[in-house]
Amino acid sequence: MNIERIIQEVYQKIKGVDNKGKIATYIPELSKADPNKFGVHISTISQMNFGVGNYKDKFSIQSMAKVLSLSLAYRILGDKLWERVGVEPSGTAFNSLVQLEADKGIPRNPFLNAGAIVISDILLTHLENPKNDFLDFVQSLSYNSGISYSNRIAQSEKKVGYRNVALCNFIKSFDRIENEPTDVLDFYYDLCSLEMNCKELSELFLFLANNGNEIHSNKSILSESQSKRINALMQTCGFYDESGEFTFKVGLPGKSGVGGGIIAIHPDKYAIAVWSPKLNKKGNSYRGMKFLEEFTTRSELSIF
Ligand code: GLU
Repeated sequence: MNIERIIQEVYQKIKGVDNKGKIATYIPELSKADPNKFGVHISTISQMNFGVGNYKDKFSIQSMAKVLSLSLAYRILGDKLWERVGVEPSGTAFNSLVQLEADKGIPRNPFLNAGAIVISDILLTHLENPKNDFLDFVQSLSYNSGISYSNRIAQSEKKVGYRNVALCNFIKSFDRIENEPTDVLDFYYDLCSLEMNCKELSELFLFLANNGNEIHSNKSILSESQSKRINALMQTCGFYDESGEFTFKVGLPGKSGVGGGIIAIHPDKYAIAVWSPKLNKKGNSYRGMKFLEEFTTRSELSIF
């Protein structure tokens, strides 16, 4: 099978069909993204790399960073982590406050904003220089010192982050945030502001297709079982309130972000990143979803 050819053909087809949806504007700086951008990059365990379209353009990875912060927190805390955050899909919006009351400040899963805020709190407690140490972790995973935060995006989100402030304070009211909410949120906004291109994303996330081992050095980042669990969480909770639909259509674990990026993993085979800024009604990249559905259907490279 010629994966490059399938990617080329599916890319051209999706590019030619339509480009529906809306760019996220609730974080003002995100609204400046060019709606016509569309990039794809695949990295495989057998070290094949291939990209089409705007795969070298950097964009705001937003919620995809939640997988990386979760991985680092899991590496540090092990299974004690699950005392602070659950592993169930929520069925509510990613920034919802309602369940937290019933669940007494234990967010349903680490990919909700509430869950990612708790993970940020954990990292703040355990890392000496959280902002630098997290970036070191990301850079070392990708062998790429060119990856960095965007202060512009982080500040833009901070200015309008009323709901995240509410979430963090609410969790703190249950005594389930250890640090000062403003510090936790500053760190959370920094994580979400990371900028990468599709090539960097697919290379970086390959450790989750490789049983938790970094691909070049084979260094263990997560144990095999931990890696399995992160993939399981991406499968069940990675696409807001559309995770079932993504599983149904694409059949891979993955995570999306409101910047229009999607990363999807095929354990033991590959990681693929897609970016197209316009989002569907559920907040996932419109063309990204379409591309991946067609790609796994044509290539038969899904886990089901
Ligand atoms: N930083 C964004 C927020 O808190 C992340 C949203 C996302 O990509 O899901 O709203």
